[in-house]
Amino acid sequence: MTILVTGGLGYIGSHTVVELLKNNFQVIIVDDLSNSEKFILDSIEKVAGKRPVFFPFDLKRKELLSQVFDAYQIDGCINFAAYKAVGESQEKPLDYYENNLFSLINILQEFKVRNISNFIFSSSCTVYGQADEQPIDENTPLKTPESSYGKTKQMGEEILKDFATAHQRKVSLLRYFNPIGAHPTALLGELPIGVPNNLVPYVTQTASGIREKLNIWGNDYETEDGTAVRDYIYVVDLAKAHVKALQKLIASNEDTVIDIYNLGTGKGSSVLEVVEAFETANDVKVPYQICERRAGDITIAYANADKAEKELGWKAETSLEEALRTTWEWQKYLESRNS
Ligand code: UDP
Repeated sequence: MTILVTGGLGYIGSHTVVELLKNNFQVIIVDDLSNSEKFILDSIEKVAGKRPVFFPFDLKRKELLSQVFDAYQIDGCINFAAYKAVGESQEKPLDYYENNLFSLINILQEFKVRNISNFIFSSSCTVYGQADEQPIDENTPLKTPESSYGKTKQMGEEILKDFATAHQRKVSLLRYFNPIGAHPTALLGELPIGVPNNLVPYVTQTASGIREKLNIWGNDYETEDGTAVRDYIYVVDLAKAHVKALQKLIASNEDTVIDIYNLGTGKGSSVLEVVEAFETANDVKVPYQICERRAGDITIAYANADKAEKELGWKAETSLEEALRTTWEWQKYLESRNS
């Protein structure tokens, strides 16, 4: 089967492409390289032993997208292409709505007219906001996200539910917790542009001396050590969940399917625990200072991922330390490329 992977050269996308190729799917990548680099395509080929078809364009360009659908018999899509910086989305909300939602709608228009089903959507645990109870399962009530980025994820989910219902299609909404780590070959990983916003890339750059100190945003939260708690999920585990979710959609005999899964480890880790785990895993020091809380941060979020285990036969398998080891190897690889 042939799967369109939008944003397939991005962080989670590239790892998922590898898993799809390993499972004998044909892959067509559309990626505008706004948050990736062309060498990732070569890395995918090295890791998977096959080179996917690649088209560099922006999905808002409907006519180019249509040509891809004309040229290939596409059986499904995993849609990773989206802007994802929470802070930036507050400054440029229109760019976020335009990019994340127009591209989604353009793909769905093609799905509609060509009678294609099987659509997997990258959603996020931000759709839950600060949940009243932990762990968060799929029935936990959604709250209005703080950021425009989070709102594009909530709106994307609604668009897909309406699409699946109106046109009898199969969709799967995957709500990621905090993805971390890199491929065990150290050939694929996250490429943060500029100063990283996310914790693990910042920790990594601090350990390597690019950043002087990690700023820990607040140690006065109501958690065991006062720092905020998240559920850090290894990116290769996450990638594998996409293949399982896709296989389930394909195997389903129902006309309309709306699957929703939380993808996390089920375990919460505080910022300080992540720092310590990084230091232990890699035998390096991560200097830090405690700062004021960051605006918009919630105290605690971790998943109940039992539904994914029960229905997809998927479970996170990689420990926090192991994931953080791969991050460090990736950082060393990036530095060797630059030297
Ligand atoms: N964090 C931090 N320093 C940083 C980046 C993040 O203390 O430089 C904290 C942040 O306040 C949050 C956690 O690390 O509690 C995870 O943040 P991240 O931005 O990686 O993901 P989020 O859960 O906010 O999407």
